Amino acid sequence: MADDRVHTGGCFCGAVTYRATALRDIWFCHCRQCRSLTGHYIAACRTGRENYQIAGELRWTAVSEQSSHGFCASCSSPLFWSTEHSPNMSVLAGSLDHTRGIETCGHIFVAEKGDYYEIADGLPQYAGYPEGGMQGQ
Ligand SMILES: [Zn+2]
Ligand SMILES: [Zn+2]
Repeated sequence: MADDRVHTGGCFCGAVTYRATALRDIWFCHCRQCRSLTGHYIAACRTGRENYQIAGELRWTAVSEQSSHGFCASCSSPLFWSTEHSPNMSVLAGSLDHTRGIETCGHIFVAEKGDYYEIADGLPQYAGYPEGGMQGQ
C-alpha cells in the first residue's frame, strides 16, 4: 500500500522533482503576492525543510525581506515558498502527484482576494492569517 505520508511531485517540464514526507495542511492563499506570482490564488501545504529531497535546478526570487519563491529554472513552474526563520517550507499543492493524507484547511488573506471570483466551498475563511496561527509558518 502506498504511504500517504510520502509525497512526490515536480514542475511542468520535469527538470525539478521532489519527494517530501509529513506534508500537512493545504491552505488557499489569496494575498496579492501569491496572486501576482502565479496568476491566481494558490494552494500550498508544508513540512519541515529537512523533509524535502529536491532534484533539479531551482531559481529563487525574493518576494519580501523574509520570503523567497522557488521556480523551476527551466520552465518557471512555481513550486516552493521559503520564509527565513521558519523551520518549514511550503510547496504548491498543484505540483504534487497526489494529496492523499493532507487535509484541506481553508482560505487565508481573503481580504486581498481578487474581485473576479467567489469562494463558495464552505471552508473557513480568514482575512489574514488564521486565528491561532498556522503552526510554525
Ligand atoms: Zn520545469
Ligand atoms: Zn499568499
